[in-house]
Amino acid sequence: MDIFDKIISGEIPSYKVYEDNDVFAFLDISQVTPGHTLVVPKQHVSDIFAYDDDLAQKILLKLPLIAKAIKKSNPAITGMNIQSNNGQSAGQTVFHSHWHLIPRFDNDNLSSVLAPTIDNSENFSPDQYQKIATAIASQFE
Ligand code: AMP
Repeated sequence: MDIFDKIISGEIPSYKVYEDNDVFAFLDISQVTPGHTLVVPKQHVSDIFAYDDDLAQKILLKLPLIAKAIKKSNPAITGMNIQSNNGQSAGQTVFHSHWHLIPRFDNDNLSSVLAPTIDNSENFSPDQYQKIATAIASQFE
């Protein structure tokens, strides 16, 4: 079991923002920007090269739904980078496929190739993570 399998099963806690039969979405601990979310297939696949058409449809169709909820959760969000690192050479560090949804803010002065090179976790308390996760999760209600 990798770390994301353990997050999906609840063995390791996470700040969950969305879950259905196919995907589990939670705050990336690094919070490259506030609201930075990972969308992870529940099925264990290591990277995009292991997707078949059925899995691709199940997972990729969810990205707009979750992206829109993140955007709605904070009016200051004006854009979003969606990134998936596949393979060590591409910067992948957790070998369970995942999609980074990284909110962007006017004048945030970040480059568009972001994760996982930035770690802002020391700036976020458990309360702050929870507040962001709840704001996103409530958009699905
Ligand atoms: P990648 O380099 O694309 O494989 O990204 C892996 C991401 O997983 C990094 O951005 C990490 O911050 C994030 N990450 C690792 N462990 C955890 C965790 N326990 N909870 C939330 N995010 C995590």
